[in-house]
Amino acid sequence: MFESLSDRLNGVFKKFRGQGRLDEENIQAGLREVRLALLEADVNYKVVKEFVDRVRERAMGQDVLKSLTPGQQVVKIVHDELVDLLGGEHQDLELRAKGPAVIMMVGLQGSGKTTTTGKLALHLRKDRKMNPLMVPADVYRPAAIEQLMSLGRQLDVPVFQSTSQMNPVDIARNAVAQAEAEGQDVVLLDTAGRLHIDEHLMEELANIKAAVNPNEILFVADAMTGQDAVNVAQSFNDLLDISGIVLTKMDGDARGGAALSIKSVTDKPIKFVGLGEKLSEIEAFHPDRIAGRILG
Ligand code: GDP
Repeated sequence: MFESLSDRLNGVFKKFRGQGRLDEENIQAGLREVRLALLEADVNYKVVKEFVDRVRERAMGQDVLKSLTPGQQVVKIVHDELVDLLGGEHQDLELRAKGPAVIMMVGLQGSGKTTTTGKLALHLRKDRKMNPLMVPADVYRPAAIEQLMSLGRQLDVPVFQSTSQMNPVDIARNAVAQAEAEGQDVVLLDTAGRLHIDEHLMEELANIKAAVNPNEILFVADAMTGQDAVNVAQSFNDLLDISGIVLTKMDGDARGGAALSIKSVTDKPIKFVGLGEKLSEIEAFHPDRIAGRILG
């Protein structure tokens, strides 16, 4: 991931580092290249503008220009601003709850919602010693229920017995009650997706939210769809006030435009990234590590 951006930025920085002295003109020229690299990585143009403005303002400071290693200083400024752009501090899942914590997974069909539900169940059980219940709440595609049941068998994680005759709001409510009765401490609700945002789906998601008051509403987005993912995230956030984002298919995304724009546009943190089809291929999102990887 981020291969092209990383190559481009490192090219710019090599020039910066190679110069003993930097003046405003060198910095302007370098920042023009940074700007192009970010635009080529499909980062939102407003986000790019604000980013470059912030870096420029800091880089033009006299303490940078007069320092012994101005090139290094500018690289450090870009690094810090990248960390900020990616969300700053790592944001963990909010799992404190009386009774079971509820994590509601939302997003378009094909984004990787069901796979991510399985990945999170495995992560919560293995790394946090929790006892999850997975809940298929997509009653429109019978295959969706079967897909989650199959993941449950694979992972040996219990799955709520939804049927396509049930109402998704009742499913959510009953599943939380069952988890409470049976001592499961986290409920993962895999809600329905559509190919496009539609009113009926959004209304249903709002009703599920109102019924079970989730601790987390995670918007799952396919990183490879770039700015479309950002726009869809914005719409889901407007309606549901999501709590975080999971970017899937980062393993196939050489550009990184969604990852670099989505926090800034929605003001919601990326909490996890999906890095492959296997159920173990999920990672908590740490902005500083990612910035390090991009500039590494
Ligand atoms: P849903 O319709 O949103 O529930 O999407 P699915 O969970 O069924 O995933 C759609 C496709 O994306 C499947 O083929 C998954 O294996 C694949 N997928 C999901 N997450 C990732 C990921 O992080 N990396 C890769 N390469 N594929 C993924």
